Amino acid sequence: MGRRLTFEIFRYNPSESGTPPRIQAFDLEETPGMNIFVALTRIRERQDPSLKFDFVCRTALCGSCGMVINGRPRLACKTFTRDLPCRITLFPLPVFKLLGDLSVDTGAWFRRLSLRTGAWLHTSRAFEFRVPEERMDNATTFRIYEAERCIECGCCIAACAKVHIQPDFIGAAGINRLARFMLDPRDERGEARFFEVLGTENGIFGCLGLMGCEDNCPKDLPLQLQLAYVRRMMARAGLAGNGSRGDGPGRG
Ligand code: SF4
Ligand code: SF4
Repeated sequence: MGRRLTFEIFRYNPSESGTPPRIQAFDLEETPGMNIFVALTRIRERQDPSLKFDFVCRTALCGSCGMVINGRPRLACKTFTRDLPCRITLFPLPVFKLLGDLSVDTGAWFRRLSLRTGAWLHTSRAFEFRVPEERMDNATTFRIYEAERCIECGCCIAACAKVHIQPDFIGAAGINRLARFMLDPRDERGEARFFEVLGTENGIFGCLGLMGCEDNCPKDLPLQLQLAYVRRMMARAGLAGNGSRGDGPGRG
């Protein structure tokens, strides 16, 4: 017999006017290797088919199953019940638009972020498919790869006190996203253009530096490193009248 677990789950359907938000409790027997995704699927299959939550890959790669588990933003598929007490509380990630119960719309938020940051390679060079790929030094490639590992789960945004009090604050995911392009020697945007997005109170200068983002990133991204890099670059751009170009591969 496994432990008897009690899940206290936030329930609310914004499209059903007149039904206030509530907490609903479900009891479930723990089975070996159970994670929160498995538990929720079991509850939905056996107790309440109306329970809403998101998942796609179940292997911590798609970023869909972020939720607040016992007070901390985590991925449901990567959080095992064996690491939690018998009473488990589940809430949707704050900040993002609530679709119902534990399901939120992170996609719209990250799409806005992509447009706001111009999250694509800005180059005047035409694409030429016959030309072999250019080589990049290993150190730069590694730093870009580290930034690219973000799965857009939203846990760092939900954990960021600054986003809660200043909704236009770009958040660690946004700063990390632009760091990826600042590091890329193929991106022709200069510091002045990065400064337009990041050199403000809604950008890097609004960051409180308490690292709730890094503490709650399920992919262990080096957010502290990225934030420090961007802060250094943008401070330099600000002091230089924010007009100078970056200093090449592995800048900073
Ligand atoms: S360090 Fe900055 S980005 Fe990270 S949680 Fe704190 S305010 Fe947000
Ligand atoms: S930086 Fe980490 S916590 Fe933030 S969205 Fe990316 S993977 Fe999720």
